[in-house]
Amino acid sequence: MKLIRGDRVIYTFKYDMDYIDKVSPGERFKVVTNDCWFQQVQSEEQAIEKIDFNIVNPATGPIYVEGAEPGDILKVKIIDIAVADYGSAVVIPNEGLLGDKVTKPVVKIIKVEEEYAIFNGLKLSIDPMIGVIGVAPALEDGEWPTGSPWHHGGNMDTTDIKIGSTLYFPVNQYGALLALGDCHARMGDGEVCVTGLEIKAEVTLEVDVIKHKSIVWPIVETDEYVMVITSGDSLESASYEATSQAVEYLKNGLEISWEDSYMLASLVVDLKISQVVDPKVTVRAAIPKYVLPINKLIESL
Ligand code: CA
Ligand code: CA
Repeated sequence: MKLIRGDRVIYTFKYDMDYIDKVSPGERFKVVTNDCWFQQVQSEEQAIEKIDFNIVNPATGPIYVEGAEPGDILKVKIIDIAVADYGSAVVIPNEGLLGDKVTKPVVKIIKVEEEYAIFNGLKLSIDPMIGVIGVAPALEDGEWPTGSPWHHGGNMDTTDIKIGSTLYFPVNQYGALLALGDCHARMGDGEVCVTGLEIKAEVTLEVDVIKHKSIVWPIVETDEYVMVITSGDSLESASYEATSQAVEYLKNGLEISWEDSYMLASLVVDLKISQVVDPKVTVRAAIPKYVLPINKLIESL
């Protein structure tokens, strides 16, 4: 299996990017991802002001996917996320939802033993996820630092981007140009203090291309749900967009009126907070697959 090392990274998702490697549809490959600090945080004595913030949120890639062309969908199945044996979390004044209450920075190094993270003696089961994953944005969307989420994906910090899930991205550029980083050994919805359990990882992916179908925002498919992941300047605007997308998918996929679809969304769709701490906030609208299977959704695009 191909291994893509973690030393070639981007800090901005751009329409034009030089790729570092190529993979083919159906291929399984491994990607080494750096933690969000590029491993600069190695001890609890680390001074936050000495961290080089120019190399925060590195995303390994871009990876060129053969056969992916503008107007297609890139499908990315997450086969595995093998995390390192320790990671970190921090609080920083004026960062996160309660940043105004933080009087001093605190760094915590957190060990991961077998399937547990040890936090102040508490055993927390790990549930690894990918914080940053995306493709080249559309030309009209401009450039996006890896710290931001948008139509192309990016820093979505969504707990459902985990082992066994499948992502769907709009392809805007030849080869799609996939890049990823910022894995967390676990995180709660919201990522309230601005970090998850930040950790280095080795991610196994399998890619595929769905020809001549397009979506506006990334979708993540889990065992039970198809979730549209949208971002905005407020929870309200991101929720509006997520709901609007879910209602369209239900309407077109089930061939019902917009009004019935809106009603149905109110009965079955869950709006979930992904994160409230990045430059844009992210929510997801979860549609149960027993109501709208993913193949029906894709056929109706
Ligand atoms: Ca993140
Ligand atoms: Ca992170």
